[in-house]
Amino acid sequence: MIHTHSAEETIDLGRQIGGELLPGTVVLLEGDLGAGKTTFVKGVAEAVSGSDATAVSSPTFVYLNIYEGKCPVYHFDLYRLKNPEDFLAMGFDEMIGGEQICCIEWPEKLGAMVLEGAMRIRFEKISELERTITVEK
Ligand code: ADP
Ligand code: MG
Repeated sequence: MIHTHSAEETIDLGRQIGGELLPGTVVLLEGDLGAGKTTFVKGVAEAVSGSDATAVSSPTFVYLNIYEGKCPVYHFDLYRLKNPEDFLAMGFDEMIGGEQICCIEWPEKLGAMVLEGAMRIRFEKISELERTITVEK
């Protein structure tokens, strides 16, 4: 378990962990709204797709941002997903498991859908600036 004390520290952790990810890794990000998941992904995108990584909007930008670069990062935010079937209907399952790194916020919305070999990271808000971040696998 890791403690961070500012958004910048969480971005740094994202850079650090992102720098060690193998292409094709799926990272599931769990935790309440405001826990720091999106902040963490900023660091991952920088480390993986380059320091000038900018989000390229996708047709389904409500759920997916793509960071192009030496290795693309697909950043899913499934907060508004109504049911797991919608994820499949939009063809998203085919976007997972390529060479790109996939970061998925709110994986709980996928129900029992299994993402083989995914890494899980849990975020908890302790106070205004403090978070605990636990890599579960
Ligand atoms: P989530 O994606 O989990 O809903 P965000 O990353 O969008 O959360 O938001 C986290 C908010 O908390 C941001 O406004 C960020 O600046 C703030 N924050 C304060 N301290 C931290 C910290 N230690 N780690 C991450 N974010 C923090
Ligand atoms: Mg978020």
